[in-house]
Amino acid sequence: MVRAHPGGVPHRGGVRGDLAAVDPLAQSAGHDPGRTWLGKEHPMTDTATHGAARPVPARSHPRVLATLGRPDWATHLATHGPLPSLVPNLVEILQNAGLVGHGGAAFPVWRKIASLAGAPAAIIANAAEGEPLSHKDAVLLANAPQLVLDGLLVLAGTLAPRAKLLLYVNPLSLESAERAVADRPDGRRIQVVAAADGFVAGEVSAVVDSLSGGRGVPRDHPHHLTERGLKGKPTLVFNVETLAHLALIARHGPEWFRSVGTPDDPGTRLISVSGAGLEAHVREVDGGTPLGDVLARCGLGETAVQAVLVGGYHGAWVERSRLGAPLTAKATRTSIGAGAGVIHVLGVEECGIHASGAILRYLASQSAQQCGPCLFGLPTLSGAFDDVTTGSGRQGDLLQRMLATLPGRGACHHPDGTVRFATSALGVFADEVTAHRAGRCRAAGARR
Ligand code: SF4
Repeated sequence: MVRAHPGGVPHRGGVRGDLAAVDPLAQSAGHDPGRTWLGKEHPMTDTATHGAARPVPARSHPRVLATLGRPDWATHLATHGPLPSLVPNLVEILQNAGLVGHGGAAFPVWRKIASLAGAPAAIIANAAEGEPLSHKDAVLLANAPQLVLDGLLVLAGTLAPRAKLLLYVNPLSLESAERAVADRPDGRRIQVVAAADGFVAGEVSAVVDSLSGGRGVPRDHPHHLTERGLKGKPTLVFNVETLAHLALIARHGPEWFRSVGTPDDPGTRLISVSGAGLEAHVREVDGGTPLGDVLARCGLGETAVQAVLVGGYHGAWVERSRLGAPLTAKATRTSIGAGAGVIHVLGVEECGIHASGAILRYLASQSAQQCGPCLFGLPTLSGAFDDVTTGSGRQGDLLQRMLATLPGRGACHHPDGTVRFATSALGVFADEVTAHRAGRCRAAGARR
């Protein structure tokens, strides 16, 4: 169902115009991402356990995925109730709710709105989802697209009734998005636009660049988009999952939102889960749920897990010993940052070094080729990583130099995220590096 990335890590393609050839999801029957990833299983359904059993914990009912399988307009209204046309004190309500962005940065939503230099000329729902391990935005658009559109419309009704409303979607979700807009009586003012391809396509300045007629690559932006964005006017860009939560808060209020999750990580979040033989799928979990509990609901016991990549390719590997730590919006001393809402499990017989090397080669290939340190530095970093972990080992100094000097050297955070990932791989798989140096590899189970 999900094509194997070199090194065993699932890799979602997505070259516009050639989906069937490159994308495992488009190759499945019906091109229906909701059905492909969720199958008949409800996202909150618990499955059989592999590995030492961990008690399957209690959980709340799904919120943003309360509807499944392309609900029509009437079902959407029956499930969630009518949407207020505007929300007085929206900023205060969102601050009390504690809603943060679900695209990866976890920036407080109220703060972004409060930073607007004027009424937004454009409000953009971002579902570019360039992260290969992430499917949550596509699943959301396949199963609860009206909540996303609700979020756009309530923001417009409250902040700027004449704002341009744009739904910027991965080409795989184009059909779901267009159908959802056509389904609702007030959808005519929402324009659906196919996103550019590539890992960095969802970066907010890349979104605005694409919608301005550019290549859809990140731009150095001395001004925040809330001051000068699309056509130089104040612009809001929110991840689609963020808008779905916002639409529910607009209906039910901040106390309702905080009634699940933890005080520091309220509400729920969507998580794309894959790896260790699991069928790639999406789950909605309460804020602050321990990582091991999420895996237990997927049927994975602790002994089936070697390590977990949390947050996607710009995230970090987490050792099995930390499965009891809660998943939260941002990492703290005691919690694990969920990042873009991605969990990829490395099974006990897989090689973390090979998987990490493959991901680094992919990340190096995804530079938008504008900044020298990114264009030249990431391939150098990737090559030095391979040399140190599986080759001659002579490039240790070069590897350390790249890790130390690349962060902060790009117009976007691609080099920073890549260095973060590489650093975590070297830390979590330090024993594997030593084993490789001695000619052994866990994946082979014997001497190489
Ligand atoms: S840092 Fe890399 S990905 Fe980001 S804008 Fe520069 S070249 Fe492009």
